[in-house]
Amino acid sequence: MRQRTLKESISASGIGLHSGDKVYMTLRPAPANSGIVFRRLDLPEPVDIPASALLVTDTALGTTIERGGAHVGTVEHLMSAFAGLGVDNAFIDLTAAEVPIMDGSAAPFVFLLQSAGIEEQTASKRFIKVLKPIEVTEGDKWVRLTPHDGFRLNVEIDFEHPALRKFHQAVNLDFSTAAFLKEISRARTFGFLKDLEGARARERALGANLDNAIVMDEYRVINEDGLRYRDEFVRHKVLDALGDLYLLGASLIGEFSGFKCGHKLNNLLLRALLEAPDSYVAVVFDDDAQRSPVSYQLAPSH
Ligand SMILES: [Zn+2]
Repeated sequence: MRQRTLKESISASGIGLHSGDKVYMTLRPAPANSGIVFRRLDLPEPVDIPASALLVTDTALGTTIERGGAHVGTVEHLMSAFAGLGVDNAFIDLTAAEVPIMDGSAAPFVFLLQSAGIEEQTASKRFIKVLKPIEVTEGDKWVRLTPHDGFRLNVEIDFEHPALRKFHQAVNLDFSTAAFLKEISRARTFGFLKDLEGARARERALGANLDNAIVMDEYRVINEDGLRYRDEFVRHKVLDALGDLYLLGASLIGEFSGFKCGHKLNNLLLRALLEAPDSYVAVVFDDDAQRSPVSYQLAPSH
């Protein structure tokens, strides 16, 4: 199984969910073994910020990576699209400090990648295979990686809502590109109206609106068109987890489980894995007879 990049460059523009700033983004092909690299073009000198779990500096309401004093926020939905389509190498040029939020899901990024086309490279695709269980807990929240011959995600959410009282949902997904596209990629980010004011006082969610987030008041979802999936919230948590886990720099072979998980725990889990070298091994599947337990279909172009 080989590494993948884009066939050609493609651009889009939008606003940052938290900054509210207008941002232009260009996704470009990158040579084998480059990984995913963000590039801030709006600074006096362009700064490259590789998509790496060890460069995550902020996980409040999104995942931010930082290098050399330059940062990029809200990388998780774009990273999720790369993970879903199995793209290993790409450069992402940005004119601001945040990836555009688009519609709050990964679907617009999937559309961009499919429009650009995806190309196989000669180098072997790298996987990280989980050998031993790794777990991180915080209060009643936890995340865990366990050995599994494939890539499986189990995510459960449980929160108090004045109208819904106790709100409980769970998703169990055996990863494939098709499952990602159909079950996960369209799930939007969500928030509560009551939290919005506090977030804005801290200069967060300044770009949030009903076109890029599901918003709930005390009683209901206030977006006119309602939900895209009945359990869109927990599906978005899976989308976020996929994107956050892809900051490992390789595709996982293992099982991820999370209860009330978020960006912080997802990142702590990767750091815990990387700090325990006997808990994983890097593998490639060069031999045709030795099939990878995780497959990535070449996505059809539009
Ligand atoms: Zn998200």
